[in-house]
Formats: sequence, C-alpha cells, structure tokens
Amino acid sequence: MLGSLQLLQPTTVDEASGALRDFAERGKIYAGGAEMLLLMRHGFLQSEILVDVKKIERLHRIARENGTLSVGACVTHHTLELNPLVREHAASFAAAESQVANVRVRNQGTLGGNLCFNDPHSDPGTVLLIHNSTVTLGSQRGERQLPLKDFFVDVYETALEPDEVMLDVQIPALPSGMMSTYLRLHRFQRPTLGVAAAVKMNRGTIAESRLAVGCIGPKCQRLPELETKITGTQLDEAKRIVAEQKNHLRQRLQPVDDLLGSADYKLYMTGILLGDALEQAASPSFPLDGGRLG
Ligand SMILES: Cc1cc2nc3c(=O)[nH]c(=O)nc-3n(C[C@H](O)[C@H](O)[C@H](O)COP(=O)(O)OP(=O)(O)OC[C@H]3O[C@@H](n4cnc5c(N)ncnc54)[C@H](O)[C@@H]3O)c2cc1C
Repeated sequence: MLGSLQLLQPTTVDEASGALRDFAERGKIYAGGAEMLLLMRHGFLQSEILVDVKKIERLHRIARENGTLSVGACVTHHTLELNPLVREHAASFAAAESQVANVRVRNQGTLGGNLCFNDPHSDPGTVLLIHNSTVTLGSQRGERQLPLKDFFVDVYETALEPDEVMLDVQIPALPSGMMSTYLRLHRFQRPTLGVAAAVKMNRGTIAESRLAVGCIGPKCQRLPELETKITGTQLDEAKRIVAEQKNHLRQRLQPVDDLLGSADYKLYMTGILLGDALEQAASPSFPLDGGRLG
C-alpha cells in the first residue's frame, strides 16, 4: 500500500527544479512511474511529494538538427521503438527500445526514467554509448551537457544533482558508412547481457569500430582498447581477438555473479555476442540505415 502522496505537476524546468530544491529529500521526480511506484509500494523509497515532470513540453520533443537527434527525457520506450525519425537516424537504438520488457512497461516507462534510474540491467544506455550520446540536465541554475558515459557513475548512481531534471538526450548520427547492431541475452524480462557494435569496413578490414557492453557489471561501458585492437583486422581475426579478451573484459566490466548467471558465464557470452554483433554490423546484406531493427 502507498501512503498519502502530494502530486506536483510543474510545466517548466524552473518550477520543477525549485520544487526539488524546496522539498529536498521529501520530493522525488516522477515520470512514467514504472520504477518509482514499485519501489514505493515495496517500501524501498519514502517520498511525500512526487514532482511529475510529464507536463513540461520540452521533455516530449523528438527533433533532428545538424545530424543530431534530440529526444526528450519523457519520450516513452514505445514511441522510440516506432518513431520513423528515430528508426531512420539510430536504427539499433530503436531496435533496443523494442526489446525493453513488454508493451505495458514500454508504454509507461520513459527514456529519461530509464537512464536516471541507471539499473545495470537496462538496454538503451548501451546502444546510446556507441552514438557518443550526451545528456542535457537542467535546473534553476541553468543547463549543462554531459557525455552519457560520464553521466553513468555506478549501480543506480548518476551525475544528476538533487535539483536537476534530465531534459533531453542528444544522439549524433554514426559516421557515414558505419553500421550498427544491438544484441541482448535474457532469461527474464530484464536483460542479462546487452551488446552494441558499430563498424565501418574498408576492403574487407575494419576501418573503425565502436563497441559497448551493458548489464553484466555496475554500468554499461564502451570498450576503447578493444576497438583499437580490432582496427585494421579482418572480421574473422577481430572475432578471434574479441573472444580472447576475457581478462581485459573482466577488469573493465567487473561482472558479478547473480541470479541471472555467474560472472564467468556472462564474460563468455560477452565474447560470443560481441563477435556476433560485429558480424551482423559488417554484413554486406545489412540495410544501409545505420542499424538493424529487431
Ligand atoms: C517489469 C519490468 C521490466 C523491465 N524490463 C526492462 C528491460 O528489459 N530493459 C530495460 O532497459 N528496462 C527495463 N525496465 C525498466 C524500465 O525501462 C524503466 O522502469 C523505465 O524506463 C523507467 O522510466 P519511468 O519514466 O517509469 O521512470 P520513473 O519510475 O518515473 O523514475 C525512475 C527514476 O528516474 C528518475 N527520473 C525520471 N525521469 C527523470 C528526469 N527527467 N530527470 C531526472 N530524474 C528522472 C526518478 O526520480 C526515479 O528515480 C523494466 C521495468 C519493469 C518494471
């Protein structure tokens, strides 16, 4: 059972940030409520005042300007999986969104709620990393932009200040000729492992690549050392290199044993899925749309 709650519905970022500052620990941002209401119902989170940010118009905007797609924090997973502009600009991101939970959660949950909650078992963050995405955070003190990789700090921890609201996510297009894909492994609704790969091939060798892995450790991460190692190699060689990087991946990703599997199993599957993702993204039959829709 939930106790009595006060709902505030600010229409500007200034008002929302002011409410967060005034109510401090007593107030919490609420978007779709998919996480918030569960936590409150189970007594993991006490809050007297919910600051519902869905009435702030900017947080619902999807727009593309100068090759960068801007997605408002309150856009739902379901809208993202279906939106034609998103599918054209960042197809593997749209594909990742289509795999989040089930249609009920996708209709309720928002991109901002997902990124700000920063549950390690999430899909969108991993694929947004290969786009070098940034986030815009706003408060009464103004706006600031952060690379998404710096926004994620640790398990359920982000760089968000207590009076800040996530406004939007900027998703630059992949470089011309670069293809991407997102693959996930799951036993339950939440993913056990998520892998994103983007490659640009030149005469059968990898000219440029971007790799990211999520879910198996505290936060999703890019793998810059591995990206450098496979540059200039042919696909088979790259897959072999990736499969042999268990020690490096263990250090960087810090996998943990949990109900979804042992750290060793997750590392082994990371090597396999990274290889598969490289192969898919490099496939000549791959549609020239920057990604693969599931
Ligand atoms: C059954 C189930 C299955 C799921 N499966 C998956 C899955 O397969 N893959 C996956 O990626 N995710 C999964 N999720 C997570 C789901 O995607 C998130 O619950 C959802 O996106 C959260 O969005 P929300 O708008 O409901 O956030 P809320 O619950 O409203 O908020 C979540 C947190 O973010 C904060 N917050 C929200 N919006 C903002 C903002 N604009 N600025 C600052 N802080 C903000 C809130 O204060 C709160 O701390 C699952 C969730 C459930 C319940």
